[in-house]
Order: sequence, then C-alpha cells, then structure tokens
Amino acid sequence: MSAIDPNGERWLAICGGIGGAKLALGLSRILPPENLTIVVNTGDDFRHFGLHVSPDVDTVLYTLAGLSNTELGWGLAGETWTFMEQVERLGGPSWFRLGDRDLATHAVRTAMLANGSSLTDVTRHLATRLGIGPSVIPMCDAPVATVVDSDEGTLAFQTYFVGRRAEPRIRAIRFDGATTASPSPEAIAALEDPRLAGIVICPSNPWLSIDPLLAVPGWRMRLEQRRVPCVAVTPLIGGEAVKGPTAKIMGELGLPLDVAEIVSHYRGLLDGFVLDAVDAARAPALPLPTVVTNTLMRTLDDRIELAKATLAFCRTLPADGLERTR
Ligand code: GDP
Repeated sequence: MSAIDPNGERWLAICGGIGGAKLALGLSRILPPENLTIVVNTGDDFRHFGLHVSPDVDTVLYTLAGLSNTELGWGLAGETWTFMEQVERLGGPSWFRLGDRDLATHAVRTAMLANGSSLTDVTRHLATRLGIGPSVIPMCDAPVATVVDSDEGTLAFQTYFVGRRAEPRIRAIRFDGATTASPSPEAIAALEDPRLAGIVICPSNPWLSIDPLLAVPGWRMRLEQRRVPCVAVTPLIGGEAVKGPTAKIMGELGLPLDVAEIVSHYRGLLDGFVLDAVDAARAPALPLPTVVTNTLMRTLDDRIELAKATLAFCRTLPADGLERTR
C-alpha cells in the first residue's frame, strides 16, 4: 500500500487523539513506514487504578493498527467490558471506561515503566506488537499534565474531559511539568534528521492537544528554529469543530471562531496552512500561504487524499525558513 519514495524524505507529524489520528492514518498509507514519525500528545495521560493510561497515544496506536472502535469513536474494536462490570459491582470508579483488551495495554505499559523502560520505549514496543510501521513517539518521557482552570475550579484533564464531559467553562489551561520536560532523544533525532522534508501539525485541538507539546521549551525552540517547512491542517470547518470542544473552548477564551485564530495561535511555527474548501473565502485574510481542499475525513480515501494534498503543499514551501510568518 505504501508508495515508493525515491527521495527518502522523512516527515514528522504532530497530533493529539481522534482528529489527529485520522490524518496520521492517511500519512501512514502514502509514506513508507520508515519515512514517517508521529509525535503524540501526552498531556492527557493519567493514572487510573494505578495504571498509566495514555489516551492519545493509544488512539494513534489503535488507529494505525486498524483496531479502533469505529462505533464508540474511541478504544478497541470488538471490546468486551467484563472488568468494568465487576468494577461497578464492587462500587469502584466507573466514570472512565476501560475495556478488557484496552486494560491490557495499560497494564503492559505500567509494568514496563515500572521495570525502567521509558514511555518512548514502551510505545515502540506496543507499536511493534500491534504491527505498526511508522514510528509513534510520545511528545515527552517525563510527565506533563494538562490542568484546566474552570468555573468549577481547577480540574485534572480527564476529570474535565471525560468525568465532566468538557462541560465546565474554561478560564485558563496549564501544563504541569512542561517547563522541565524535554523531547526524547528519539524525537530530537527525528527533528534533526537531515532527510526531514517537513512537519505537519495534524487537525487536533490546538489548546488541548498541541499546546502541551508547545509548552515544552525544547519542542517550541526546535519548531521555531526548524529548517524545513511546517504546515498545520485546520481543525475548524466553517467555524465549527468536527468533534470535541475546540470551538467551545475558543468561545470561552473569548476568541472568534475563525481559522485566522488558529493561524495566529501557531504564530512563529507555520509556513503554510491547509484550509477547508468551506472556508476558501478566508484564504486572502490569512498572513501565510494556504491550500484549499476538502479536510473533512469521513472515509479512508478522504484521509489519504488530505495527506497527499498536505505533503504536496508542504513541498512547495521554502525550506530555508527565510519566508516564515512571524
Ligand atoms: P482528541 O485528542 O481526541 O480530542 O482529538 P484531537 O485533538 O486530535 O482532534 C480534535 C480536533 O480534530 C477537533 O478540533 C476537530 O474539529 C478536529 N477534527 C476531527 N475530525 C476532523 C476532520 O475530519 N477534519 C478536520 N479538518 N478536523 C477534524
């Protein structure tokens, strides 16, 4: 299925969970596996039943492995719920659902971490066992925790997102641990690979899924000083999020629901922006090169077409960083 790439170009994609994983899947279908590195948000990670759960990393792993649960929109296909049924019977916490197979992922991850493996090592191991070709790298090995300041007080990310279904109004978001965290050696190697042709920020929630990585100084500095073009794919279509609280959060932070706000949010990091056809009229107002295409990924073909359009666009942009938007 992978296309032959005679140039051996390497690509780096940055993503969160469900939205980002859709494009990551498209990229994985058009690039040879060794040419693609996918860096995933870990700000959503938390401990539950003593286990290390990495929701976005697992969404990407399950998506690339073709194992994701398309009915639920999260977790594994063909999942069973015996563990949760017994948790409920015993009066344990049931607000965060862990399927039986999914539970195995968290148990193996936690055991490997306890034995001294890094989160990057564990993720590589899981990806290999699931038959995934591209490198999937957590944004950091050290813990970074997204914390929401809301009208219901300070909430840990999963309490806000799953426990309270993203209903509290956000006042501010912080990323505990980010300033002392750093990209893993594997991530730095991917960023500094002389064959790197471009960086793609997937259509993920900028505030919840991409900002945790950008809050890590070693990530932001390297992305600002990149020598290859970086493009973002819009997470907004017609002023609305396809799924999730991106638009709601923008409203709560007092931001207009406009793609220009996404571009502005990524100031200093982008050389181009992939805009949905619905928003074509906004292109002239944006201060950087754009490409207009269908970005709504309903089918596998949509994912592949958007991946192709994104890389083709990125290849047209200056690689030396001299014409970057500041
Ligand atoms: P999460 O971590 O599971 O919330 O997922 P992400 O942060 O990776 O993705 C959420 C964002 O993806 C939201 O802003 C959605 O609007 C966006 N999104 C989801 N599906 C699509 C799609 O098919 N096309 C585009 N352009 N954006 C999408």
